[in-house]
Amino acid sequence: MSVQVKGSVGFLGLGVMGREMARNLAVAGFAVKAYDVVPTAIEAMAGTGVTPAVTIAEATTDADIVISMLPDTPQVEDVVRGKGGLLSNPPRGGLYVDMSTIAPEATRILAADLLKAGVRMLDAPVSGGPVGARDATLTIMVGGEAAAFERARPFLQGMGTTINHVGASGAGQTVKLCNQLICGINLQAICEAFALGRACDIDLVQMREVLMGGSASSWMLEKLGEAMIEGDTSAGFRIDLMMKDLRLVLGEAQQNLVPLPATGLVASQYIAAQAHGEGANGNQALFRVYDRLTGRPTRRDATASLA
Ligand code: NAD
Repeated sequence: MSVQVKGSVGFLGLGVMGREMARNLAVAGFAVKAYDVVPTAIEAMAGTGVTPAVTIAEATTDADIVISMLPDTPQVEDVVRGKGGLLSNPPRGGLYVDMSTIAPEATRILAADLLKAGVRMLDAPVSGGPVGARDATLTIMVGGEAAAFERARPFLQGMGTTINHVGASGAGQTVKLCNQLICGINLQAICEAFALGRACDIDLVQMREVLMGGSASSWMLEKLGEAMIEGDTSAGFRIDLMMKDLRLVLGEAQQNLVPLPATGLVASQYIAAQAHGEGANGNQALFRVYDRLTGRPTRRDATASLA
């Protein structure tokens, strides 16, 4: 029995998040053609039901909707304004959803320019990390025209479960930046609690479990706490990407005259982590800043030194 195709997607950016999201769209019954600047990222999609494309135009020209999941503002500018990009080669469906986390102001300018070329752009950044991307349970915050959002909704439902239209163009990015502000400060709070507990010879494994049952519980404590204690720095959401987000948060704050002292302090901790070569590691590596401040090893380091 042939599977009925629900619509066509041109997907740009097959990194930690994008490869899972593109795969889920194919599983949900959409015809997905995907492109990445790194050929091995495209090759890695073999067997997922996603069709590889060797140029942006090949992925996007005939698509009902184009979706991008790229690192930062310059890469999104590139797929819109660059060679074979959406401005010079508008997709057939006239709908573009950028799910990367980028600057709200840049989003508004891109959306206005794309509209002149007949393309509606939505900003739809996500929260939920690689696990949310894998399980199609992402939280998606969408800015842009309500009618375009309704057209995009069935596609977004292939990648996430909590999907909200939060305002005009750029509003999705602003809500995402507020999300990141809370995540960063929360992670910093956990680092401080773990550093203090460890210095006082408290069993951090037990402490985390106790805290999870009380009012200090949080997504960060649940998802990253164990890896922090174990000294497992494997990447999921990288330190470099969070620093990019905090830079965007502080830029918005400056532009809108909002003092964010705690965010500024947390950004300094992330800079310290980057300066010590942690940029490509996961966010839990923020705790390693405290290894240096307090001179205490992580649990895993301690085990290794005993071996
Ligand atoms: P990533 O660096 O793993 O993936 C980005 C991909 O885009 C890479 O494969 C890269 O080769 C590709 N790329 C770069 N420039 C390109 C271009 N011009 N054309 C086509 N492809 C291009 O990043 P990620 O972790 O997947 O994150 C993507 C976005 O999602 C970022 O904005 C990030 O802040 C956001 N985000 C990430 C997470 C997470 O946990 N990783 C969670 C929520 C949001």
